[in-house]
Amino acid sequence: MVAKSYMLLLALSLLLIESTAVAQSCQSQRVKLQMLGTGGPELLNERASTGYLIWLDDKARIIVDAGPGSLQRFKQSGAKYEDIRAIFFTHFHVDHSADLAAYVKGGFFSERNVNLPLYGPSGDTFILSADDFVKKLFSATEGVYPYLNPTIDPQANSEYKLQPHTIQWSYQKLDAIQIYEDNDFKVTTVSVHHGPFPALAYRVEVAGCVISFSGDMSGRLNTMPDLAMGSDLLVAHNAIPEDATGVPQLLHMKPGTIGKIAGEAKVKKLLLTHMMQRSINRQDESVNLIRKNYQGPIIFPHDLESFHP
Ligand SMILES: [Zn+2]
Repeated sequence: MVAKSYMLLLALSLLLIESTAVAQSCQSQRVKLQMLGTGGPELLNERASTGYLIWLDDKARIIVDAGPGSLQRFKQSGAKYEDIRAIFFTHFHVDHSADLAAYVKGGFFSERNVNLPLYGPSGDTFILSADDFVKKLFSATEGVYPYLNPTIDPQANSEYKLQPHTIQWSYQKLDAIQIYEDNDFKVTTVSVHHGPFPALAYRVEVAGCVISFSGDMSGRLNTMPDLAMGSDLLVAHNAIPEDATGVPQLLHMKPGTIGKIAGEAKVKKLLLTHMMQRSINRQDESVNLIRKNYQGPIIFPHDLESFHP
Protein backbone atom coordinates (compact mmCIF):
# COMPACT_ATOMS: atom_id res chain seq x y z
CA MET A 1 0.00 0.00 0.00
CA VAL A 2 2.78 2.35 1.00
CA ALA A 3 4.67 1.43 -2.19
CA LYS A 4 1.55 2.13 -4.26
CA SER A 5 1.08 5.64 -2.73
CA TYR A 6 4.75 6.31 -3.25
CA MET A 7 4.48 5.39 -6.95
CA LEU A 8 1.42 7.62 -7.31
CA LEU A 9 3.28 10.51 -5.68
CA LEU A 10 6.25 9.94 -7.97
CA ALA A 11 4.01 9.91 -11.05
CA LEU A 12 2.31 13.13 -9.92
CA SER A 13 5.67 14.83 -9.31
CA LEU A 14 6.92 13.83 -12.76
CA LEU A 15 3.74 15.18 -14.30
CA LEU A 16 4.20 18.47 -12.44
CA ILE A 17 7.84 18.76 -13.54
CA GLU A 18 6.82 18.06 -17.13
CA SER A 19 4.01 20.64 -17.15
CA THR A 20 6.34 23.27 -15.62
CA ALA A 21 8.89 22.55 -18.35
CA VAL A 22 6.22 22.97 -21.01
CA ALA A 23 5.11 26.27 -19.46
CA GLN A 24 8.70 27.54 -19.59
CA SER A 25 9.60 26.46 -23.11
CA CYS A 26 9.45 29.04 -25.87
CA GLN A 27 6.22 29.08 -27.85
CA SER A 28 8.17 30.15 -30.87
CA GLN A 29 5.36 30.35 -33.42
CA ARG A 30 3.43 32.87 -31.30
CA VAL A 31 6.33 35.33 -31.18
CA LYS A 32 8.10 37.27 -33.91
CA LEU A 33 10.88 39.84 -33.86
CA GLN A 34 10.84 42.18 -36.86
CA MET A 35 13.59 44.56 -37.92
CA LEU A 36 12.37 48.14 -38.35
CA GLY A 37 15.87 49.49 -38.84
CA THR A 38 19.20 47.68 -39.11
CA GLY A 39 21.42 50.65 -39.95
CA GLY A 40 23.36 53.20 -37.94
CA PRO A 41 23.26 57.01 -38.20
CA GLU A 42 25.06 57.32 -41.57
CA LEU A 43 23.48 58.63 -44.81
CA LEU A 44 24.76 55.68 -46.76
CA ASN A 45 22.39 52.96 -47.73
CA GLU A 46 18.78 51.86 -47.78
CA ARG A 47 18.73 50.75 -44.16
CA ALA A 48 16.66 52.70 -41.64
CA SER A 49 18.35 53.61 -38.35
CA THR A 50 17.68 51.45 -35.31
CA GLY A 51 14.21 50.09 -34.55
CA TYR A 52 12.71 46.71 -33.60
CA LEU A 53 9.19 45.36 -33.27
CA ILE A 54 7.99 42.37 -31.24
CA TRP A 55 4.82 40.64 -32.37
CA LEU A 56 2.72 38.26 -30.26
CA ASP A 57 -0.10 36.25 -31.84
CA ASP A 58 0.04 38.43 -35.00
CA LYS A 59 -0.28 41.71 -33.13
CA ALA A 60 2.61 44.21 -32.84
CA ARG A 61 3.11 44.83 -29.11
CA ILE A 62 6.55 46.21 -28.25
CA ILE A 63 8.77 48.77 -30.00
CA VAL A 64 12.45 49.05 -29.15
CA ASP A 65 14.00 52.32 -30.40
CA ALA A 66 12.61 54.70 -33.01
CA GLY A 67 15.50 55.77 -35.22
CA PRO A 68 14.92 57.78 -38.42
CA GLY A 69 13.24 55.68 -41.10
CA SER A 70 12.05 53.02 -38.65
CA LEU A 71 8.54 54.50 -38.65
CA GLN A 72 8.37 53.97 -42.42
CA ARG A 73 9.26 50.30 -41.81
CA PHE A 74 6.60 50.16 -39.08
CA LYS A 75 4.02 51.28 -41.67
CA GLN A 76 5.32 48.72 -44.18
CA SER A 77 5.16 45.96 -41.54
CA GLY A 78 1.37 46.30 -41.28
CA ALA A 79 1.59 46.90 -37.53
CA LYS A 80 -1.15 48.94 -35.85
CA TYR A 81 -0.14 51.76 -33.52
CA GLU A 82 -3.11 51.03 -31.27
CA ASP A 83 -1.78 47.51 -30.63
CA ILE A 84 1.52 48.78 -29.18
CA ARG A 85 1.77 48.32 -25.41
CA ALA A 86 5.06 50.12 -24.74
CA ILE A 87 8.11 51.71 -26.37
CA PHE A 88 11.59 51.11 -24.95
CA PHE A 89 14.51 53.39 -25.83
CA THR A 90 18.07 52.14 -25.42
CA HIS A 91 19.21 55.80 -25.39
CA PHE A 92 18.33 59.16 -26.88
CA HIS A 93 20.84 59.55 -29.68
CA VAL A 94 19.26 60.74 -32.94
CA ASP A 95 19.65 57.37 -34.69
CA HIS A 96 17.55 55.70 -31.96
CA SER A 97 14.91 58.30 -31.21
CA ALA A 98 14.27 60.82 -34.02
CA ASP A 99 11.03 59.17 -35.22
CA LEU A 100 9.21 59.40 -31.87
CA ALA A 101 7.46 62.68 -32.71
CA ALA A 102 6.37 61.21 -36.06
CA TYR A 103 4.92 58.14 -34.30
CA VAL A 104 2.95 60.43 -32.01
CA LYS A 105 1.69 62.64 -34.86
CA GLY A 106 0.81 59.63 -37.01
CA GLY A 107 -0.84 57.98 -34.01
CA PHE A 108 -3.30 60.87 -33.88
CA PHE A 109 -5.01 59.29 -36.90
CA SER A 110 -5.01 55.78 -35.41
CA GLU A 111 -7.60 54.01 -33.26
CA ARG A 112 -5.41 54.29 -30.18
CA ASN A 113 -7.32 55.20 -27.01
CA VAL A 114 -5.17 53.72 -24.23
CA ASN A 115 -2.10 55.37 -22.75
CA LEU A 116 1.30 54.49 -24.16
CA PRO A 117 4.15 54.00 -21.67
CA LEU A 118 7.65 54.86 -22.86
CA TYR A 119 10.91 53.92 -21.12
CA GLY A 120 14.46 55.21 -21.45
CA PRO A 121 17.58 56.06 -19.45
CA SER A 122 18.31 59.09 -17.30
CA GLY A 123 20.20 62.00 -18.85
CA ASP A 124 23.49 63.79 -18.32
CA THR A 125 25.28 66.84 -19.77
CA PHE A 126 25.19 65.41 -23.27
CA ILE A 127 21.80 63.81 -23.55
CA LEU A 128 18.26 64.12 -22.19
CA SER A 129 16.42 61.71 -19.89
CA ALA A 130 13.28 59.93 -21.12
CA ASP A 131 11.08 62.40 -19.24
CA ASP A 132 12.99 65.45 -20.53
CA PHE A 133 13.12 64.12 -24.09
CA VAL A 134 9.33 63.85 -24.19
CA LYS A 135 8.90 67.20 -22.42
CA LYS A 136 11.29 69.01 -24.78
CA LEU A 137 9.41 67.61 -27.77
CA PHE A 138 5.87 68.32 -26.64
CA SER A 139 5.90 71.01 -23.91
CA ALA A 140 3.36 73.79 -24.54
CA THR A 141 5.85 76.50 -23.59
CA GLU A 142 9.32 75.23 -24.56
CA GLY A 143 8.58 72.24 -26.78
CA VAL A 144 9.73 71.65 -30.34
CA TYR A 145 6.15 70.71 -31.22
CA PRO A 146 3.91 72.59 -28.76
CA TYR A 147 0.86 71.79 -30.87
CA LEU A 148 1.22 68.13 -29.82
CA ASN A 149 1.12 69.05 -26.11
CA PRO A 150 -2.28 67.39 -25.48
CA THR A 151 -0.44 64.05 -25.85
CA ILE A 152 1.31 64.71 -22.52
CA ASP A 153 -0.89 67.26 -20.73
CA PRO A 154 -3.16 65.39 -18.27
CA GLN A 155 -5.67 68.28 -18.34
CA ALA A 156 -5.97 68.43 -22.13
CA ASN A 157 -8.43 66.48 -24.20
CA SER A 158 -6.75 63.67 -26.14
CA GLU A 159 -7.50 60.05 -26.95
CA TYR A 160 -4.46 58.80 -25.00
CA LYS A 161 -1.37 60.06 -23.18
CA LEU A 162 2.28 59.31 -23.70
CA GLN A 163 3.64 58.22 -20.31
CA PRO A 164 7.44 58.58 -20.03
CA HIS A 165 9.41 56.64 -17.40
CA THR A 166 13.04 57.49 -16.70
CA ILE A 167 15.26 54.59 -15.63
CA GLN A 168 18.24 55.70 -13.55
CA TRP A 169 21.46 54.87 -15.39
CA SER A 170 24.58 54.21 -13.32
CA TYR A 171 28.21 53.13 -13.50
CA GLN A 172 27.91 51.73 -10.00
CA LYS A 173 24.58 50.01 -9.61
CA LEU A 174 24.68 47.29 -12.21
CA ASP A 175 21.92 44.90 -11.23
CA ALA A 176 19.23 44.29 -13.81
CA ILE A 177 15.79 45.55 -12.79
CA GLN A 178 12.35 44.63 -14.02
CA ILE A 179 10.63 47.77 -15.32
CA TYR A 180 7.56 46.49 -17.15
CA GLU A 181 5.06 43.67 -16.87
CA ASP A 182 1.66 42.98 -18.40
CA ASN A 183 -0.27 39.75 -18.94
CA ASP A 184 2.14 38.61 -21.66
CA PHE A 185 5.41 40.55 -21.42
CA LYS A 186 8.09 41.08 -18.81
CA VAL A 187 10.88 43.56 -19.56
CA THR A 188 14.14 43.82 -17.61
CA THR A 189 16.88 46.39 -18.13
CA VAL A 190 20.43 47.13 -17.05
CA SER A 191 22.90 50.00 -17.55
CA VAL A 192 25.45 49.58 -20.32
CA HIS A 193 28.55 51.61 -21.29
CA HIS A 194 28.17 53.82 -24.38
CA GLY A 195 30.99 56.31 -23.86
CA PRO A 196 29.69 59.23 -21.78
CA PHE A 197 26.07 58.59 -22.77
CA PRO A 198 23.58 56.84 -20.46
CA ALA A 199 22.28 53.77 -22.28
CA LEU A 200 20.27 50.66 -21.44
CA ALA A 201 20.07 47.09 -22.70
CA TYR A 202 16.77 45.21 -22.56
CA ARG A 203 15.60 41.64 -21.99
CA VAL A 204 12.05 40.93 -23.15
CA GLU A 205 10.32 37.73 -21.97
CA VAL A 206 7.15 36.60 -23.71
CA ALA A 207 5.40 33.23 -24.17
CA GLY A 208 8.38 31.44 -22.61
CA CYS A 209 10.78 33.07 -25.10
CA VAL A 210 13.56 35.56 -24.40
CA ILE A 211 14.68 38.31 -26.79
CA SER A 212 17.52 40.61 -25.70
CA PHE A 213 18.79 43.89 -27.16
CA SER A 214 22.29 45.22 -26.50
CA GLY A 215 21.60 48.68 -27.92
CA ASP A 216 24.75 50.74 -28.49
CA MET A 217 27.41 49.76 -25.97
CA SER A 218 31.13 49.12 -25.65
CA GLY A 219 30.78 46.15 -23.28
CA ARG A 220 32.91 47.83 -20.61
CA LEU A 221 30.40 47.46 -17.75
CA ASN A 222 30.13 43.72 -18.54
CA THR A 223 26.42 43.67 -17.68
CA MET A 224 25.21 42.12 -20.93
CA PRO A 225 26.03 38.42 -20.38
CA ASP A 226 23.83 38.18 -17.27
CA LEU A 227 20.99 40.17 -18.82
CA ALA A 228 20.99 38.11 -22.02
CA MET A 229 21.51 34.73 -20.29
CA GLY A 230 19.76 31.96 -22.23
CA SER A 231 18.20 34.33 -24.79
CA ASP A 232 16.53 32.72 -27.80
CA LEU A 233 17.51 35.82 -29.81
CA LEU A 234 20.17 38.42 -29.03
CA VAL A 235 20.23 41.56 -31.16
CA ALA A 236 23.76 42.97 -30.91
CA HIS A 237 25.05 46.13 -32.57
CA ASN A 238 27.95 45.50 -34.93
CA ALA A 239 28.99 49.11 -35.56
CA ILE A 240 32.80 48.76 -35.57
CA PRO A 241 35.49 46.31 -36.71
CA GLU A 242 38.01 44.71 -34.36
CA ASP A 243 40.76 47.22 -35.22
CA ALA A 244 38.66 50.29 -34.36
CA THR A 245 40.44 52.88 -32.25
CA GLY A 246 39.62 56.21 -30.57
CA VAL A 247 36.06 57.31 -29.92
CA PRO A 248 34.26 54.53 -31.88
CA GLN A 249 35.75 51.79 -29.68
CA LEU A 250 34.64 53.72 -26.57
CA LEU A 251 31.08 53.72 -27.89
CA HIS A 252 30.68 50.31 -29.49
CA MET A 253 31.51 46.61 -29.07
CA LYS A 254 34.17 44.99 -31.19
CA PRO A 255 33.14 41.70 -32.83
CA GLY A 256 35.34 39.78 -30.36
CA THR A 257 33.36 41.30 -27.50
CA ILE A 258 30.05 40.38 -29.15
CA GLY A 259 31.28 36.78 -29.44
CA LYS A 260 32.28 36.65 -25.77
CA ILE A 261 28.88 37.98 -24.68
CA ALA A 262 26.93 35.60 -26.94
CA GLY A 263 29.03 32.64 -25.79
CA GLU A 264 28.90 33.46 -22.10
CA ALA A 265 25.16 34.14 -22.22
CA LYS A 266 24.57 30.90 -24.21
CA VAL A 267 22.27 32.68 -26.66
CA LYS A 268 20.56 30.49 -29.22
CA LYS A 269 20.70 32.87 -32.18
CA LEU A 270 22.68 36.07 -32.75
CA LEU A 271 21.39 38.91 -34.94
CA LEU A 272 23.89 41.63 -35.89
CA THR A 273 22.52 45.08 -36.73
CA HIS A 274 23.37 48.83 -36.56
CA MET A 275 25.57 48.18 -39.58
CA MET A 276 27.87 51.03 -40.59
CA GLN A 277 30.27 51.60 -43.46
CA ARG A 278 33.20 50.55 -41.30
CA SER A 279 31.60 47.21 -40.34
CA ILE A 280 29.27 46.25 -43.19
CA ASN A 281 32.01 45.20 -45.60
CA ARG A 282 33.82 43.14 -42.99
CA GLN A 283 31.08 40.68 -42.07
CA ASP A 284 33.19 37.55 -42.73
CA GLU A 285 35.91 38.90 -40.48
CA SER A 286 33.33 39.70 -37.76
CA VAL A 287 31.89 36.18 -37.96
CA ASN A 288 35.36 34.62 -37.62
CA LEU A 289 36.10 36.71 -34.54
CA ILE A 290 32.72 35.93 -32.98
CA ARG A 291 33.21 32.21 -33.70
CA LYS A 292 36.15 32.10 -31.28
CA ASN A 293 33.61 32.16 -28.45
CA TYR A 294 30.20 31.46 -29.96
CA GLN A 295 29.12 28.57 -32.20
CA GLY A 296 25.40 29.29 -32.70
CA PRO A 297 23.77 30.83 -35.79
CA ILE A 298 24.93 34.35 -36.72
CA ILE A 299 22.65 36.42 -38.96
CA PHE A 300 22.97 39.87 -40.54
CA PRO A 301 19.30 40.83 -40.98
CA HIS A 302 17.89 43.44 -43.32
CA ASP A 303 15.05 45.86 -42.62
CA LEU A 304 11.62 44.24 -42.30
CA GLU A 305 13.03 40.71 -41.90
CA SER A 306 11.33 38.71 -39.15
CA PHE A 307 12.60 35.99 -36.83
CA HIS A 308 10.86 33.55 -34.54
CA PRO A 309 12.74 33.05 -31.28
ZN1 LIG B 1 23.43 54.23 -32.60
